[in-house]
Amino acid sequence: MHEVGLLAQCPCSGGDQGGGLFLTLCLVACAVWLVHRIGRKDGVSRMNKAWKIAIVVALVAVVAIVIIEKQKGSLPGTDADKGDTGTSQPAAGLPRLLDLGSTVCIPCKMMAPILEELKKEYEGKLQVEFIDVNVNPEPAREHGIKLIPTQIFFDASGKERFRHEGFFSKEDILAKWKELGVDLSVGAPAATGPTFSRMEPAKPDDRPKTAICYMCDGDINPKTLVVVKSAKGDVRLCGPHCYFIMYSCLTEDKTDFEKKVSVTDWADGKMVPVTEAVYVYGAEEKTGRPTIKAFAAREAAEKERQASGGNVLAWNVVQEKELAARCGFCDRAVYPQDAARVVTADGINTWGCCSHCALGVAARTGKDIEVRQPDRLTGEMIVVKTASGSVASLEPKTAVAWFGLRKAPDGKFASAGCFHQGFFVNEDNLKKWVEQNPTATGKAITIAQALADKMKLSPQQIQKACKIGECAPK
Ligand SMILES: [Zn+2]
Ligand SMILES: [Zn+2]
Repeated sequence: MHEVGLLAQCPCSGGDQGGGLFLTLCLVACAVWLVHRIGRKDGVSRMNKAWKIAIVVALVAVVAIVIIEKQKGSLPGTDADKGDTGTSQPAAGLPRLLDLGSTVCIPCKMMAPILEELKKEYEGKLQVEFIDVNVNPEPAREHGIKLIPTQIFFDASGKERFRHEGFFSKEDILAKWKELGVDLSVGAPAATGPTFSRMEPAKPDDRPKTAICYMCDGDINPKTLVVVKSAKGDVRLCGPHCYFIMYSCLTEDKTDFEKKVSVTDWADGKMVPVTEAVYVYGAEEKTGRPTIKAFAAREAAEKERQASGGNVLAWNVVQEKELAARCGFCDRAVYPQDAARVVTADGINTWGCCSHCALGVAARTGKDIEVRQPDRLTGEMIVVKTASGSVASLEPKTAVAWFGLRKAPDGKFASAGCFHQGFFVNEDNLKKWVEQNPTATGKAITIAQALADKMKLSPQQIQKACKIGECAPK
């Protein structure tokens, strides 16, 4: 608080008050002199002394009121104009958001449009201030800023209530104010988000564990089962593609990893070491999505190829094809046919292995992106465009996201993983899909929130995204 007092006296902000007093004194002196002169000119040399005093008092009062009003009226304007000098005074009785950053760092630049929006939308409710610490380093020292951007939340009495380092989305800022007891949405056009959730499965998953794919939770087709031996027992996967998804996420040394892996012979159902089998690699006619069948014997593979089409490929070729397309956020192997399409502002095409990962490309690259993701129930296309880490446009506007959550053994809910996320053109479609998937648990959120969740991740967290724990053999 001491520092604020010092600042108030700095010539550029406190000068107003001294100047005002000086002006008042000058005007009063002029008024007294004028009253004397008027009295003489009119020849009323013996003007009533009481009248003179009354006129002087009235003039002083008028001048004082004019000056006070002028100062009052000019303060908010002064604040806005001096937004980046950091010398403005908090408007009395308003909560204040102070962002200390610069005009060059990337997350700082991403904050700029958010601050502008908040300033406009919550005018009269929230004071929003930006200080460029390169231009004005003093406030950064005063507030003990360690890195930029830092946002400091002050309550109406000027007391610091919270601070956050790094990019902070509009949704998160509003949510934080709400948490601090400042509901800025009151009286504002309500941003009504979806409210639907189901945190307990409608029906328990009674499939035997050996019938569930470790990666996607789907049913295991016994003809395509892949088994990975691990210290903690066998990891069972529904097919080679789920195996490659897992493999692409491994952070451990992958040398000789394949020695632990066996695939099912499509012809006789026996397990074969993964590197010794040959594969009939085809494509679904309608979608172009790859199909993979493993065979221990070349002749059996040839027979299948003649019957159903495709090519007979060795393991290393299959591996190369499977690892060619990756999620632009978490780096998992994807089939473009299953994935969200993502185009960055500079024209780079990539994919999101799920809808949330697709939005995460904006966080990982720091670029504006366009995401095209089909509705999980109907396949209708949903198109999201981002600008500076916020949703710039959404088609259709009713689209919502499903945030798949699962209860951990400690009772806390955490992301259920990429296979359990999705977009829907509206909340009704989402509810229908949840009904059709009795084991699905999670909640409906806005797509803006789904993006905000990704934008707030630190570069270290992004680096680790889906790099397992979640995906490694347990
Ligand atoms: Zn699977
Ligand atoms: Zn991903």
